[in-house]
Amino acid sequence: MASAPSSDVRVRFCPSPTGNPHVGLVRTALFNWAFARHHQGTLVFRIEDTDAARDSEESYQALLDSMRWLGLDWDEGPEVSVDGFTAGGGPHAPYRQSQRMEIYADVAARLKAAGHSYDCYCSPEELETRRAAARAAGRPSGYDGHCRDLSAEQVAEYRAQGRAPIVRFRMPDKAITFTDLVRGELTFTPENVPDYGIVRANGAPLYTLVNPVDDALMEITHVLRGEDLLSSTPRQIALYEALADIGVAKQVPAFGHLPYVMGEGNKKLSKRDPEASLNLYRERGFLPEGLLNYLSLLGWSFSADQDVFSIDELVATFDIADVNANPARFDLKKAEAINADHIRLLDAADFAAACAPWLRAPYAPWAPEAFDEKAWQAIAPYAQTRLTVLSDITANVDFLFLDAPVEDEASWTKAMKPGSDELLRTAREKLDGADWSSPEALKEAVLAAGEQHGLKLGKAQAPVRVAVTGRTVGLPLFESLQILGRERALSRIDAALLRLSAG
Ligand code: GLU
Ligand code: ZN
Repeated sequence: MASAPSSDVRVRFCPSPTGNPHVGLVRTALFNWAFARHHQGTLVFRIEDTDAARDSEESYQALLDSMRWLGLDWDEGPEVSVDGFTAGGGPHAPYRQSQRMEIYADVAARLKAAGHSYDCYCSPEELETRRAAARAAGRPSGYDGHCRDLSAEQVAEYRAQGRAPIVRFRMPDKAITFTDLVRGELTFTPENVPDYGIVRANGAPLYTLVNPVDDALMEITHVLRGEDLLSSTPRQIALYEALADIGVAKQVPAFGHLPYVMGEGNKKLSKRDPEASLNLYRERGFLPEGLLNYLSLLGWSFSADQDVFSIDELVATFDIADVNANPARFDLKKAEAINADHIRLLDAADFAAACAPWLRAPYAPWAPEAFDEKAWQAIAPYAQTRLTVLSDITANVDFLFLDAPVEDEASWTKAMKPGSDELLRTAREKLDGADWSSPEALKEAVLAAGEQHGLKLGKAQAPVRVAVTGRTVGLPLFESLQILGRERALSRIDAALLRLSAG
């Protein structure tokens, strides 16, 4: 956990545990985290699990696991230890909304007692009929306030009909203006913000109530969240004012709405798009710092001429006022390039440790006992300067740990041309006579073999590479040969010659 907060800044990350974590969610978490850390404030992690039909424990665990993997720590919330006990989670516990139902029921009752909300008996069909009529007449088609001031007789009649009311919040009859931290001053007129439901007919509180109530009770100072929630902000501000009136809220937080993230074809990136899945990046071997670096650029920039920076630099520099309101484009190539830069920046030992998962099952195709630590240590530096994502390590080093190189037919066909057998025979001879203590000498051997057959180095080394590693592309060939060793390399060339003579 971070050191004790030294400012009043309190922000929150409050996902609903549905589905798998996606990059939009991570961007929101990151901006809140960076804002909290930059201001030495507090990050509250709250779980908005009031929708039993959609929420799952699995998704909740995945959220915690993702935050931990990314290194986005929180100061209050699930599994935070308070005074050495892991139970509470902080001064405003519990932090899972499903455990706060009594609080919502109490606040809802007090809002109603103060006249800030009322029972609405309209049936969905009645609402739809009036909505259609309003639309046809060119009037705003939101809720029309039908039940705002029902008489006692009307209420009695509705009840006698067996109607169960929902509770609606009574929007004040005034424009709502606020200064968005990203977008500047915004004004919403009353006809665009009708009275809205806060409690279902069965008594279950809605997101529209519980989210601002918790922000108020948890004393959130800044709400940083996606642009998709902007339309609910005027309602929340009005609710906040009502909460202040009944003594639940101390202040209205500042709001900042983060720009949309666009995916392929300039369409909004949906959480269901495969490229939005956080797990995909994790399994491909993005480094947390590489992914966070890239995601921070979705709506923000570090400086005009620097795209690669550390998490510490991000924290030192991040300001919500610098976030751009325009939609950001998700660019996989750029994400990969930034990740590659972060791979280069690792210490050798950290790089080796980061690769570890891909050097064993289920990723690695070799038997565990075939792994050779010395060979790995020798090849790792060449891989570190070339990988884009860590999962690529497996294919880059498998030639060292498999008995025979992988059979990659496309590589074989591409490299083995008429005359490749002659070339390979000469290369084998020259390599056999070379000094294997230096990659340079191995290069000279292949160069000389190429010259003998009128081939430049590039053309001459392709069949050698495929014979030895199975693939046309890979780590530097002569270093690879040396690390594999004379005996194994030559016997692979023999095997390739055998195959060529057979077919
Ligand atoms: N649970 C809400 C969501 O996931 C949070 C919205 C907010 O940040 O206010 O969309
Ligand atoms: Zn009504």
